[in-house]
Amino acid sequence: MQTRFLIRQFTVSIFGFLLTLTLVSCDDKPTRIRDVPEFDALGAFAMLEQQVAFGPRVPGTAAHKKCMTMLKDSLQAFGATVNLQSFEHYIEKTGEKVQLTNIIASFNPANKNRMLLAAHWDTRPWADSETDSSLHDTAVDGANDGASGVAVLMEVARNLRDKKAPVGVDIIFFDGEDFGTHGNDASWAVGSQYFAKHKDVRYNPFLGILLDMIGDKDLRILKEGYSVQYAPDIVNIVWDYAARLGLNAFSHEHMGPVTDDHVALLKVGIPCIDLIDFDYKYWHTVDDTPDKCSPESLEQTGKLILELVYNPPI
Ligand SMILES: [Zn+2]
Repeated sequence: MQTRFLIRQFTVSIFGFLLTLTLVSCDDKPTRIRDVPEFDALGAFAMLEQQVAFGPRVPGTAAHKKCMTMLKDSLQAFGATVNLQSFEHYIEKTGEKVQLTNIIASFNPANKNRMLLAAHWDTRPWADSETDSSLHDTAVDGANDGASGVAVLMEVARNLRDKKAPVGVDIIFFDGEDFGTHGNDASWAVGSQYFAKHKDVRYNPFLGILLDMIGDKDLRILKEGYSVQYAPDIVNIVWDYAARLGLNAFSHEHMGPVTDDHVALLKVGIPCIDLIDFDYKYWHTVDDTPDKCSPESLEQTGKLILELVYNPPI
């Protein structure tokens, strides 16, 4: 008798527990149901320094090639299927032709629910924001402008090796973002333009995030104009996640539109937002070096993306 009573009581409590879980998941979307790994900020910062140590990653140089090999080999070691999408580009400013390569790393390629995470891996050949015009033809180290976004996403990729995500994840490192001529929008972000033009019509990720210049020690991420205009739902989701995680670099202030790699993706219907801190006085100068960046800043977008990857808003 007592045993039967206990079993019934047990059954009632289990039912109640399951009911509670169901109610919690209905009330509190997106629900945190999976454990999310810690973001290794020091590991990410080491990856930023490793890229800078190659020298400026200017297309056509040995440093660019060495960095590509490192990124490709590491992504493959993390279990990704890696495609190198190469193409020729005519540089408006110099009249030269150069080979550019987008590095596309896919995790869980069979999963149809896909998330796109991107950064640019090239660096600007010209420090043309320097007040000293004799430095205008010197290439920038791009610790923040280039290496920071790649560093965070490489750390995300390392986590995907250790713990499978419930969605498919495509990490894309675009080339040729920083060849632009001021006043000609089309001369910027050419890697993402090429990718968007050649993408399979069946490839439609439900969410895209571009990281650019997110390593600044004094990090403050505002809501970027094109993101707010063309992917407002993603902006809201991301800022909700950031608030829930207590990420204090995310501000509710708005900023103007930025010509960046997300624009070409938005044009082909991929809801991709740009997380960028454009208030960086070393932008396109020879002083864009690792000492202007910090592990704590990389951790802000790193934590956000790990949460999105393991507890996606779908
Ligand atoms: Zn740049």
